[in-house]
Amino acid sequence: MKYFAGIDIGSTAIKIALVDTDKNLIGHKISASGSMFYKYAKQTLKDMLEELNIAPEDVVYTVATGYGRKLFKEADENISEITANALGARAAAEGQCNIKTIINIGGQDSKAISLDEDGNVVNFAMNDRCAAGTGKFLDVVAMNLELEVDELGAYHFKSQGTPLAINSTCAVFAESEIIGLLGNNNSVEDIVAGVHYSIAKRIIKLVKRVGIKEGIYFDGGPALNKGLVHAIENELSREIFIPKFPQITTAYGAAILAHESHSYENG
Ligand code: ADP
Repeated sequence: MKYFAGIDIGSTAIKIALVDTDKNLIGHKISASGSMFYKYAKQTLKDMLEELNIAPEDVVYTVATGYGRKLFKEADENISEITANALGARAAAEGQCNIKTIINIGGQDSKAISLDEDGNVVNFAMNDRCAAGTGKFLDVVAMNLELEVDELGAYHFKSQGTPLAINSTCAVFAESEIIGLLGNNNSVEDIVAGVHYSIAKRIIKLVKRVGIKEGIYFDGGPALNKGLVHAIENELSREIFIPKFPQITTAYGAAILAHESHSYENG
């Protein structure tokens, strides 16, 4: 059996997806990027193949993507996150949502990608200068509130009344603002909801730069946070589609491209 791997070396997490000859997703693995992307990416691939009981030589083509893609020298090819994200998103939503707008929130950046009728990328906008509106911001908020990042969603839904406004546009100032809100006896739940709405507002500004077209899809690690999804849907007044494995769709897109490139080279 032949397999095709996609490796997404993100600023925060390494994601690996493996597809078979029918482009079915047969396994994936996520680990922290740490400071040695290359070493951890190799280890993550090794661990995933061992868990799936697949010999490394059966992985016949590998495509790397993401922030650290050029460091993974063993890859047969590397592609931009935008291309990989669009490919993976379309495959993950196939038959469920005709995607026209992709929202991706990563560890240290956020993106909005606009697709045409045929699913080709026509435009994109990116925020990689400011931590507010990224996963990093959520990580810092969780740490300040003594929570794990995967607990934020549940706290959001326990919030009562109007979510608190977080007015600082910079993550560093927002952190002090949150500490101030805690000091003024606001509940953790209301602060969490306020943070989600502040990120939602920022993301929508970014999406407006490419145009909001129906068929709205959201992925990246923060899409696992149902509270954030709820805030974005409320701010947009539209439903958004979340794939089954939102953190690995860019890796999945790279794996699909690995399959296509291998087929092209080998007829
Ligand atoms: P990158 O590709 O830039 O490394 P990811 O798409 O992997 O980023 O997203 C990483 C972010 O996802 C983390 O900073 C964290 O905020 C968020 N995240 C990861 N796992 C979860 C989870 N289980 N629940 C909520 N948020 C999560």
